[in-house]
Amino acid sequence: MANRLPKGKGTVLLRLDTSTENIDPEGELVYASVMLKAVFPGSFDPPTLGHLNIIERASSLFDELLVVVAENPQKKYLFSVAERVALMRELVRHKHNVTVFIWNSLIVEFMQTRDLRIILRGVRGTDDFSYEFELSMINKALDTTIETIFMTTDPQYFVLRASAVKELAFFQGDVSGMVPPLVGEALKRKYPLQGADPS
Ligand code: ADP
Repeated sequence: MANRLPKGKGTVLLRLDTSTENIDPEGELVYASVMLKAVFPGSFDPPTLGHLNIIERASSLFDELLVVVAENPQKKYLFSVAERVALMRELVRHKHNVTVFIWNSLIVEFMQTRDLRIILRGVRGTDDFSYEFELSMINKALDTTIETIFMTTDPQYFVLRASAVKELAFFQGDVSGMVPPLVGEALKRKYPLQGADPS
Protein backbone atom coordinates (compact mmCIF):
# COMPACT_ATOMS: atom_id res chain seq x y z
CA MET A 1 0.00 0.00 0.00
CA ALA A 2 1.52 3.31 -1.03
CA ASN A 3 1.74 6.16 1.43
CA ARG A 4 3.25 9.58 1.68
CA LEU A 5 6.40 8.70 3.58
CA PRO A 6 9.69 10.52 4.00
CA LYS A 7 12.16 9.43 1.35
CA GLY A 8 14.78 7.12 2.88
CA LYS A 9 17.30 4.57 1.67
CA GLY A 10 14.64 2.04 0.87
CA THR A 11 12.00 4.41 -0.36
CA VAL A 12 10.97 3.68 -3.91
CA LEU A 13 9.34 6.29 -6.06
CA LEU A 14 6.25 4.80 -7.67
CA ARG A 15 4.13 6.18 -10.46
CA LEU A 16 0.79 4.67 -9.65
CA ASP A 17 -2.06 3.95 -11.93
CA THR A 18 -4.55 6.61 -10.87
CA SER A 19 -7.38 4.25 -11.63
CA THR A 20 -6.45 2.18 -8.57
CA GLU A 21 -7.50 2.89 -5.02
CA ASN A 22 -3.99 4.25 -4.21
CA ILE A 23 -4.67 7.63 -5.70
CA ASP A 24 -2.70 10.48 -4.26
CA PRO A 25 -5.24 13.32 -4.05
CA GLU A 26 -2.51 15.93 -4.71
CA GLY A 27 -0.88 14.26 -7.70
CA GLU A 28 0.02 10.92 -9.14
CA LEU A 29 3.44 10.44 -7.54
CA VAL A 30 3.42 8.70 -4.17
CA TYR A 31 5.97 6.77 -2.18
CA ALA A 32 5.98 3.18 -1.01
CA SER A 33 8.39 2.20 1.72
CA VAL A 34 10.52 -0.89 1.15
CA MET A 35 12.94 -2.05 3.86
CA LEU A 36 16.09 -3.24 2.15
CA LYS A 37 17.78 -5.90 4.23
CA ALA A 38 20.97 -7.77 3.39
CA VAL A 39 22.73 -10.71 4.96
CA PHE A 40 26.54 -10.70 5.16
CA PRO A 41 27.67 -14.24 5.99
CA GLY A 42 31.20 -15.37 6.71
CA SER A 43 33.60 -17.14 9.04
CA PHE A 44 35.07 -13.92 10.40
CA ASP A 45 37.92 -15.89 11.95
CA PRO A 46 38.81 -13.26 13.06
CA PRO A 47 36.99 -10.12 11.87
CA THR A 48 39.40 -7.94 9.86
CA LEU A 49 39.40 -4.34 8.70
CA GLY A 50 38.39 -5.69 5.27
CA HIS A 51 35.22 -7.25 6.72
CA LEU A 52 34.48 -4.11 8.74
CA ASN A 53 34.92 -1.91 5.68
CA ILE A 54 32.30 -3.96 3.83
CA ILE A 55 29.98 -3.75 6.86
CA GLU A 56 30.50 0.00 7.13
CA ARG A 57 29.72 0.62 3.47
CA ALA A 58 26.83 -1.85 3.30
CA SER A 59 25.18 -0.46 6.41
CA SER A 60 24.87 2.88 4.65
CA LEU A 61 23.30 1.28 1.58
CA PHE A 62 20.82 -1.06 3.26
CA ASP A 63 18.27 -0.29 5.94
CA GLU A 64 19.34 -3.36 7.86
CA LEU A 65 22.43 -5.53 7.68
CA LEU A 66 22.48 -8.96 9.30
CA VAL A 67 26.01 -10.26 9.82
CA VAL A 68 25.89 -14.03 10.08
CA VAL A 69 28.83 -15.78 11.71
CA ALA A 70 29.08 -19.27 10.30
CA GLU A 71 29.72 -22.32 12.42
CA ASN A 72 30.65 -25.09 10.01
CA PRO A 73 31.65 -28.32 11.78
CA GLN A 74 33.76 -29.24 8.74
CA LYS A 75 35.95 -26.16 9.14
CA LYS A 76 38.71 -25.63 11.66
CA TYR A 77 38.64 -22.20 13.25
CA LEU A 78 41.15 -20.39 15.42
CA PHE A 79 38.39 -18.59 17.33
CA SER A 80 35.31 -20.41 18.59
CA VAL A 81 31.98 -19.25 17.24
CA ALA A 82 31.22 -17.63 20.61
CA GLU A 83 34.50 -15.69 20.42
CA ARG A 84 33.91 -14.63 16.79
CA VAL A 85 30.40 -13.44 17.55
CA ALA A 86 31.50 -11.59 20.68
CA LEU A 87 34.26 -9.81 18.73
CA MET A 88 31.93 -8.92 15.88
CA ARG A 89 29.15 -7.68 18.20
CA GLU A 90 31.58 -5.43 19.99
CA LEU A 91 33.00 -4.10 16.72
CA VAL A 92 29.59 -3.17 15.27
CA ARG A 93 28.02 -2.03 18.55
CA HIS A 94 27.94 1.60 17.35
CA LYS A 95 25.99 0.70 14.20
CA HIS A 96 22.27 0.87 14.92
CA ASN A 97 21.22 -1.09 11.80
CA VAL A 98 23.70 -3.98 12.07
CA THR A 99 22.93 -7.14 14.02
CA VAL A 100 25.06 -10.25 14.45
CA PHE A 101 23.82 -13.85 14.38
CA ILE A 102 25.29 -17.35 14.60
CA TRP A 103 24.21 -19.93 12.06
CA ASN A 104 25.33 -23.53 11.73
CA SER A 105 23.49 -24.59 8.61
CA LEU A 106 22.87 -23.44 5.05
CA ILE A 107 22.64 -19.67 4.71
CA VAL A 108 19.56 -20.01 2.49
CA GLU A 109 17.77 -21.65 5.42
CA PHE A 110 18.67 -18.71 7.66
CA MET A 111 17.20 -16.42 5.01
CA GLN A 112 14.07 -18.44 4.37
CA THR A 113 13.13 -18.49 8.05
CA ARG A 114 13.31 -14.67 8.09
CA ASP A 115 11.99 -13.94 4.62
CA LEU A 116 15.28 -12.37 3.47
CA ARG A 117 16.45 -12.26 -0.14
CA ILE A 118 19.82 -10.52 -0.45
CA ILE A 119 23.20 -12.07 0.32
CA LEU A 120 26.11 -9.68 0.32
CA ARG A 121 29.65 -10.91 -0.31
CA GLY A 122 32.91 -9.02 -0.58
CA VAL A 123 35.32 -9.60 -3.46
CA ARG A 124 39.00 -8.80 -3.48
CA GLY A 125 39.80 -9.93 -7.01
CA THR A 126 39.16 -12.47 -9.73
CA ASP A 127 40.00 -15.47 -7.51
CA ASP A 128 37.43 -14.37 -4.95
CA PHE A 129 34.99 -13.64 -7.72
CA SER A 130 35.12 -17.11 -9.30
CA TYR A 131 34.66 -18.75 -5.89
CA GLU A 132 31.88 -16.35 -4.91
CA PHE A 133 30.21 -16.73 -8.28
CA GLU A 134 30.02 -20.51 -7.88
CA LEU A 135 28.69 -20.12 -4.36
CA SER A 136 26.00 -17.75 -5.60
CA MET A 137 24.99 -20.29 -8.26
CA ILE A 138 24.66 -22.98 -5.59
CA ASN A 139 22.52 -20.70 -3.44
CA LYS A 140 20.43 -19.79 -6.48
CA ALA A 141 19.88 -23.48 -7.19
CA LEU A 142 18.73 -23.95 -3.60
CA ASP A 143 16.39 -20.98 -3.68
CA THR A 144 15.69 -18.99 -6.84
CA THR A 145 14.36 -16.01 -4.88
CA ILE A 146 17.74 -15.31 -3.30
CA GLU A 147 20.05 -12.76 -4.95
CA THR A 148 23.76 -12.39 -4.25
CA ILE A 149 25.26 -8.93 -4.46
CA PHE A 150 29.03 -8.48 -4.67
CA MET A 151 30.78 -5.51 -3.16
CA THR A 152 34.32 -4.87 -4.32
CA THR A 153 36.94 -4.40 -1.64
CA ASP A 154 38.27 -1.00 -0.79
CA PRO A 155 41.68 -0.94 -2.54
CA GLN A 156 43.56 -0.61 0.74
CA TYR A 157 42.18 -4.02 1.85
CA PHE A 158 42.82 -5.72 -1.45
CA VAL A 159 45.39 -8.18 -0.08
CA LEU A 160 43.88 -8.54 3.37
CA ARG A 161 42.63 -11.98 4.32
CA ALA A 162 41.94 -13.56 7.71
CA SER A 163 44.30 -16.48 7.03
CA ALA A 164 47.23 -14.07 6.46
CA VAL A 165 46.35 -12.21 9.66
CA LYS A 166 46.53 -15.45 11.66
CA GLU A 167 49.82 -16.47 10.10
CA LEU A 168 51.36 -13.08 10.81
CA ALA A 169 50.05 -13.07 14.37
CA PHE A 170 51.46 -16.54 14.96
CA PHE A 171 54.93 -15.21 14.16
CA GLN A 172 54.31 -12.18 16.40
CA GLY A 173 54.12 -9.88 13.36
CA ASP A 174 52.43 -6.48 13.47
CA VAL A 175 48.77 -6.92 12.52
CA SER A 176 47.67 -3.43 13.55
CA GLY A 177 47.03 -2.38 9.93
CA MET A 178 44.87 -5.44 9.32
CA VAL A 179 42.57 -5.79 12.32
CA PRO A 180 41.07 -3.46 14.92
CA PRO A 181 42.89 -3.28 18.31
CA LEU A 182 40.26 -5.53 19.96
CA VAL A 183 41.09 -8.33 17.52
CA GLY A 184 44.83 -7.64 17.82
CA GLU A 185 44.54 -8.22 21.58
CA ALA A 186 42.53 -11.40 21.07
CA LEU A 187 45.19 -12.69 18.67
CA LYS A 188 47.90 -11.99 21.24
CA ARG A 189 45.98 -14.10 23.75
CA LYS A 190 45.76 -16.94 21.20
CA TYR A 191 49.45 -16.76 20.34
CA PRO A 192 51.21 -15.63 23.50
CA LEU A 193 54.34 -17.50 22.45
CA GLN A 194 55.65 -18.81 19.20
CA GLY A 195 55.04 -22.50 18.74
CA ALA A 196 51.25 -22.70 18.76
CA ASP A 197 49.58 -24.19 15.71
CA PRO A 198 48.32 -21.37 13.36
CA SER A 199 45.44 -23.29 11.83
P1 ADP B 1 34.34 -17.19 4.21
O1 ADP B 1 32.92 -16.83 4.42
O2 ADP B 1 34.59 -17.64 2.78
O3 ADP B 1 34.93 -18.08 5.26
P2 ADP B 1 35.48 -14.77 5.32
O4 ADP B 1 34.85 -14.95 6.63
O5 ADP B 1 36.96 -14.62 5.30
O6 ADP B 1 35.14 -15.83 4.22
O7 ADP B 1 34.84 -13.49 4.62
C1 ADP B 1 33.48 -13.22 4.59
C2 ADP B 1 33.20 -12.32 3.41
O8 ADP B 1 34.02 -11.16 3.48
C3 ADP B 1 33.51 -12.97 2.05
O9 ADP B 1 32.55 -12.53 1.11
C4 ADP B 1 34.87 -12.43 1.70
O10 ADP B 1 35.10 -12.39 0.31
C5 ADP B 1 34.76 -11.02 2.28
N1 ADP B 1 36.07 -10.45 2.59
C6 ADP B 1 37.05 -10.97 3.34
N2 ADP B 1 38.12 -10.15 3.39
C7 ADP B 1 37.80 -9.07 2.61
C8 ADP B 1 38.49 -7.87 2.23
N3 ADP B 1 39.73 -7.62 2.62
N4 ADP B 1 37.84 -7.00 1.44
C9 ADP B 1 36.58 -7.27 1.01
N5 ADP B 1 35.89 -8.38 1.31
C10 ADP B 1 36.48 -9.27 2.12
